[in-house]
Amino acid sequence: YNLRFESAPNARELEDMERAMNHLTKALSDQESLRKRFTSDVAHELRTPLSAVASYLEAMTEGLWEATPQRLQSCHEEIKRLGILVADLERLAKIEDGNLQLAKTTTDLYEIVQTAVHNLEPKAMEKELSLSIEGTSVSVEADRERIIQVVMNLLSNAIQYTPPQGHIRAKVWNDGQNGMIRVEDDGIGIPENELPFIFERFYRTDKSRNRKTGGTGIGLTIAKSIVEAHGGKIEVTSAVGAGSSFTVALPEKY
Ligand code: ADP
Repeated sequence: YNLRFESAPNARELEDMERAMNHLTKALSDQESLRKRFTSDVAHELRTPLSAVASYLEAMTEGLWEATPQRLQSCHEEIKRLGILVADLERLAKIEDGNLQLAKTTTDLYEIVQTAVHNLEPKAMEKELSLSIEGTSVSVEADRERIIQVVMNLLSNAIQYTPPQGHIRAKVWNDGQNGMIRVEDDGIGIPENELPFIFERFYRTDKSRNRKTGGTGIGLTIAKSIVEAHGGKIEVTSAVGAGSSFTVALPEKY
């Protein structure tokens, strides 16, 4: 478009413009390199399970390996993992599209947490984990389904990363400006140097171990996007061997 100056541009205006242009160029190239990194991360995540299945199947078709139910079962597990990964990627794409449509209504966070806890109770029971809620009704303007998704993600992680007989507690309160939700566990915890990365897509602590447990490392990325789309914040504190605590703040009105 046309840039017009009231008078001959002076040095300062030109400098300002140059700075603005440089800033824009940098922002665009950051965006581009993020996109490239994302593509190569996806390729990497897909390659591992794909090559595992391919080599199993190859060995079985060539008769090097007998197609035992157990081997077929492991192929099936890898395929299921791929399915979960693709479904997570689809959800992430939808949310990071920038135009995440929130269906906001006046909702009670306590009721949301109750619903999420209720849904995950069977999973917690299987591991003999106690799962409790404390707090009071707190009403906020939020997309109920999406916030349930966030809380379910935090609770599923707590269940997954807490050894049997552990304790998981959910709390709901109002800090004066925000509706607050906290999910606490006394599980394995997260090393301090890894804390800054856990909200990044595909990040799992101790990658090799967690690839087996089935996580895709996308759950917290989605949770963070949803919370931020509400104008809120998600934070974590954790200590190895002691447990983790995730806190979500959602403004009462946004
Ligand atoms: P995943 O699907 O692998 O659980 P997330 O994005 O939900 O992916 O979590 C990222 C990583 O953060 C996990 O792989 C795990 O290493 C770590 N993490 C998340 N929640 C907890 C928790 N409650 N206790 C210990 N580690 C956790």
